[in-house]
Amino acid sequence: MFKYKSGDEVIITAGRDKGKKGKIEKVYKKEDKVVISGVNIYKRHRKVTRTQPAGIYEIARPLPVANIAIICPKCGKPTRVGFTMEGKIKVRICKKCQGRLTQPKEQK
Ligand SMILES: [Zn+2]
Repeated sequence: MFKYKSGDEVIITAGRDKGKKGKIEKVYKKEDKVVISGVNIYKRHRKVTRTQPAGIYEIARPLPVANIAIICPKCGKPTRVGFTMEGKIKVRICKKCQGRLTQPKEQK
């Protein structure tokens, strides 16, 4: 099970964008990388082609998961992801407060 999911609130812990927060937009499980909206943005100048006008395009590049920490929705702190079994379902938990990182879809 991968530790991170799209929609997770994370903080950057290393590299150029250290300290920035954002939401995971995309997860690359094989590469252990995630794309976070507004983080690790690179500008690319492009020439005119038949399908696009010339200009500067901003591209969010994937970051290695080693450089991010998830922000726990319960205690609001950057934390590590733990796992626990609830019945037959594996759930992600905050290692600091043991709160669930993923809310189950079922309503009580
Ligand atoms: Zn927590």
